[in-house]
Amino acid sequence: MGPKDDIMKLDKDSLRKDFSNDYKSYYSSELFEHEGFIRKKCKICGKNFWTLDQERELCGDSEHEPYTFFKDKTSDINYADFWKKFAKFFTENGHTEIEKYPVVSRWRQDLYFTIASIQDFQRIEDGRVSFEYSDNPIIVPQMCMRFNDIQNVGVTGRHLTAFMMAGQLAFNYPKEGYWRDRTTELNFKFLTQVLGVEKKDLTYIEDVWAMGDFSEYGPCLESFSNGLELVNSVFTQFESSRGKVQELRGKVVDVGWGFERLIWFRSGKQTLYDSVFKDQLSYIHRNMGIKPDHSKYAQIASIAGYIDIDASKKGESYEQEIMRRSGISEDDYYSIIRPMQASYAVADHMRTLLFGVTDGALPSNVGGGYNLRVILRRVFDIINTYGIDIDLMKLIEMHAKDLRPIYRDIDSSIDEISTVIDVEKRRYNNTKSSANSIIDSLIKKKEPMNAEKLRMLYESNGIPPEYISKELGKKGIDVDVPENFYSSIIKSDFVEGKKEKHSKISMDVEEIEKTKKLFYDFADSAKAKVLKIEKNMVILDSTPFYAESGGQEADHGTINGIKVVDVQSASGVIIHVLHSKPDFGEGSTVECKVDIDRRARLMAHHTATHLVSAAARQVLGKHAWQEGAKKSAEKAHIDIAHYEKLSAAQVKEIEATANKCILDGIKVTMREMGRSEAESKFGFSIYQGHGVPAAKLRIVEIDDLSGKLIDAEACGGLHLMNREG
Ligand SMILES: [Zn+2]
Ligand SMILES: [Zn+2]
Repeated sequence: MGPKDDIMKLDKDSLRKDFSNDYKSYYSSELFEHEGFIRKKCKICGKNFWTLDQERELCGDSEHEPYTFFKDKTSDINYADFWKKFAKFFTENGHTEIEKYPVVSRWRQDLYFTIASIQDFQRIEDGRVSFEYSDNPIIVPQMCMRFNDIQNVGVTGRHLTAFMMAGQLAFNYPKEGYWRDRTTELNFKFLTQVLGVEKKDLTYIEDVWAMGDFSEYGPCLESFSNGLELVNSVFTQFESSRGKVQELRGKVVDVGWGFERLIWFRSGKQTLYDSVFKDQLSYIHRNMGIKPDHSKYAQIASIAGYIDIDASKKGESYEQEIMRRSGISEDDYYSIIRPMQASYAVADHMRTLLFGVTDGALPSNVGGGYNLRVILRRVFDIINTYGIDIDLMKLIEMHAKDLRPIYRDIDSSIDEISTVIDVEKRRYNNTKSSANSIIDSLIKKKEPMNAEKLRMLYESNGIPPEYISKELGKKGIDVDVPENFYSSIIKSDFVEGKKEKHSKISMDVEEIEKTKKLFYDFADSAKAKVLKIEKNMVILDSTPFYAESGGQEADHGTINGIKVVDVQSASGVIIHVLHSKPDFGEGSTVECKVDIDRRARLMAHHTATHLVSAAARQVLGKHAWQEGAKKSAEKAHIDIAHYEKLSAAQVKEIEATANKCILDGIKVTMREMGRSEAESKFGFSIYQGHGVPAAKLRIVEIDDLSGKLIDAEACGGLHLMNREG
């Protein structure tokens, strides 16, 4: 039997049932057989699982049992050393270790940050995912960022905003990598021999993994031990599109090892944070005036992790539930547990900032940058609330020291991070000084302080809800800050509204072949055949007219003497808009003439934006991405990311740097290149605007006269060229 044929019926529960009914095809493996695993059905959730323990009745899911991996005698595990162990195991078993990709996912149009290791190898082409990889199978110490669980960070003992998803990946197309037998064999060996899991404590739960829209899905096996989910091995096997389900040509084994979790399990400490951020936490605690009380924390540690703050029962908050179930007193919770949770969050957030800025992101008011701003402000709030006297740069340096053996460029933006912290701190303090008058006026208006109002005050005025609660509390007004406040303001991982812009004109181009583009060969006149005419709109078999795209306006000119006022592209078909109805018919041959004056100005402006963009990165740093550009015949305009308004001196320096390139003489070339070749040659900074959804890229390269690279960008526009040959 196969997967469901009907798209409407694709849901995880029924897929799991289908897969489990045919478990020999979807879950069993040679390893289970020769180790003697027994297949059982969980008494609580009904899922099927594999175990070596005859007596076991439960699948091992964290929801059914508390953590039991805490040790009396805990051990310190060095982050980088443990990665070496992990890498050694997998390279000895045929994997190639590759370097991490940036946490800022510039190669994808639809995501700000890298949220999973598999994303490194995914490229979007014609709206579909394709895979690109240099070796197979591979492991990668991929740092990932996710902010939607931010309210859990520090509280549950296990959530992080930045975490290493150690990717273990095997691609099965065009050559075979490996599939379930080898995956479970490696999984079992690593867990029992390297991580030290007792064989009889290990369970494998049969489950289903799916993309949100079920465009790709497959069976997965979750490994659990002592109440902790250790890893999920995903077998991406099927795809569905428009109601049709089929087996993927390129099936992928995608095992995303939560690396910090492995260290936590191995160390036997109460929280993941204590296991991974040892030095950072002792520095914070020394300057926080608290001694963390791990014997008190022990009361909540084993259950803190599997109560989800969002999923907490109605009418009972997360904290109430923790207090009720652990029996810890309210007093102890607020005076001992809360400050510990706060310190954990600070340690996590600073590491996230380190990776974010190093890989070219900045706190800002939009998209992913906004999430960085939120975490940094949360750190300032915590420092304020608990009167912590710490140097945040010292924390950054401690993180860098831990990470340096794995990530050799982790120190490359230390100065920028220091500036970012200073600038954001200044902004934060300014906000606070204006906060009081805003709060006063709200009290006068007697407006209720509900969740919506708190959110508004945070988003438009930057006033944190904790501060409002504290200030109003002094005046005897109770403010209820929702526990999920921060996750409610956080921006989605996905880029909104970055879909292809619809063409300004509409014409049915369905059956028409893509237009041959003569403009890349710098043709400014040509004879062409008319394929279709609709009102003032004309489609030709080939054209010298550049269609508006990438912020560069369209060429103008004439077709058979009639003025061309606009040129647009739809699905590769170029549509010419004429000033008046054409006097020629379909099938005739016409004479195209481009307005070369206008084109020259457009090209000059376009090439200038590349130079200014490159100069900005030289002057300001690699975070100075080009966020948008507009090139018309009259002028060029570009938006550049920076953490504060550019000073007059900086603007001057950027201009001077760009002008010097022109005076010294530069060489501009454009060539078509395979995407992976371009990425590995020039890095991800080729995607200045955003990822380009094509397998072949046009790379515009600017070199100085000695041949030294000044800038390289993927760009389909027209530029002033020093033509070769
Ligand atoms: Zn269960
Ligand atoms: Zn360009």
